[in-house]
Amino acid sequence: MLPRKRRSWAEPYKMKMVELLKTTTRQQRQRAIQKAGYNTFLLPSEDVYIDLLTDSGTNSMSDQQWSAFMLGDEAYAGSKSYYKLEAAIHKYYGYKYIIPTHQGRGAENILSQIMIKKGQYVPGNMYFTTTRVHQELAGGKFVDVIIDEAHDPTSLHPFKGNVDLQKLEDLIRKQGADKIAYLTLASNVNMAGGQPFSMENLKALRKLTSRHGIPIIHDMTRVAENAYFIQQREKAYAKKSVREIVREICSYTDGATMSAKKDALVNIGGFMATNNAEVFEEARNLVVVYEGLHTYGGLAGRDMEAMAVGIQESLDDNHQAARIGQVVYLGEKMQSFGIPIVLPIGGHGIFVDAKSFLPHIPQDHFPAQALAAEIYVDSGVRTMERGVVSAGRKPNGENYFPKLELVRFTLPRRVYTQAHMDVVAESTAAVYERRMRIRGLRMVYEPKYLRFFQARFEKA
Ligand SMILES: *Cc1c(COP(=O)(O)O)cnc(C)c1O
Repeated sequence: MLPRKRRSWAEPYKMKMVELLKTTTRQQRQRAIQKAGYNTFLLPSEDVYIDLLTDSGTNSMSDQQWSAFMLGDEAYAGSKSYYKLEAAIHKYYGYKYIIPTHQGRGAENILSQIMIKKGQYVPGNMYFTTTRVHQELAGGKFVDVIIDEAHDPTSLHPFKGNVDLQKLEDLIRKQGADKIAYLTLASNVNMAGGQPFSMENLKALRKLTSRHGIPIIHDMTRVAENAYFIQQREKAYAKKSVREIVREICSYTDGATMSAKKDALVNIGGFMATNNAEVFEEARNLVVVYEGLHTYGGLAGRDMEAMAVGIQESLDDNHQAARIGQVVYLGEKMQSFGIPIVLPIGGHGIFVDAKSFLPHIPQDHFPAQALAAEIYVDSGVRTMERGVVSAGRKPNGENYFPKLELVRFTLPRRVYTQAHMDVVAESTAAVYERRMRIRGLRMVYEPKYLRFFQARFEKA
């Protein structure tokens, strides 16, 4: 008999429709990546076999969501679909007032404008690109108060998304509570590699912030994934459902911004939520300027329908077990080939450490960029760089040389199978075997803003 170490999970769904993929030859891919200036963002998706560029808006919708699409009420004002979305958010997240927006950054824009006064500080558990930009545009100053372990790729801390309460207290003591607009708490911190906070940390954070009258704004983009980690790793929550844990997380916060393109299983959409009637009044007013009337906020009625269903589906324990199980499967397979990855394995992807993968390529020859290009050529798998190219330049023009030089393999939800994961891991292993023959790159075109999207390279 085979030893049965542990039972396998399987996807809690089956397929009813498939999207055919084009296969390409190595020669075609070599030409395609050269034409794209060795930047995977510039590849046409048609030339990609397995697309792990991002988990944003790349979700596969269920038959329930597609049928909800047909129920979309496209009335300009007071759409039935808006009331369904509002009811789902009340039921599953518990926030009092909601404003739909076209995606997460639409919510961030409105909330930042209302809640930040010029010169105020906005502490948070690590920055996110669009969140920080909107805080800065509103005159705020972001302060990183995540625990130090989050910045250390070798730390095995189970809750790398935790807020360092001492760092927050120091900020309050130094600046005064009235100089702090609010604290942003991101669930399953994206920039730390999809790492959760613990409920214990959140409860302590709630106590501390309440004492000083500082609101907590929840960036709840990946709240259900965070809840699953709490269930798996925090003893007191082992018997609670993802749904119960999500509801409890939200109950300790005062408002939220949401990119439904991630957790909530849709391709477009988001919202802002608050328990504060005055903030809601202002947001209801402001949304008309940037997004649309407060009962659609830039979304079609059908988008709100699909989101209402997606929120419910995202809170199913079996869905999260398969979602995170797939990420873990890919990560463990890579580890079995000796490929260096960031640990612990996070919620939405695998981060390969390009510095130790390609020790012979200096960081100013863009090892992660070169590795992402090489993996594409090997198998048509598209990943992205999270290293010196993404980090950009300092105000004085020098490159930031971040400690982490990573290639991100992000998994879309409900899109690929375990066999796809095998192909991805085996391709990365094949590239690993011939790693010493891989050359670095030099940048031949550099855009002024967010250069990683459009920069072009040649072989060094
Ligand atoms: C994606 C994301 C956002 C922004 O949402 P969009 O829908 O892309 O505008 C904000 N915060 C986090 C943590 C995200 O991952």
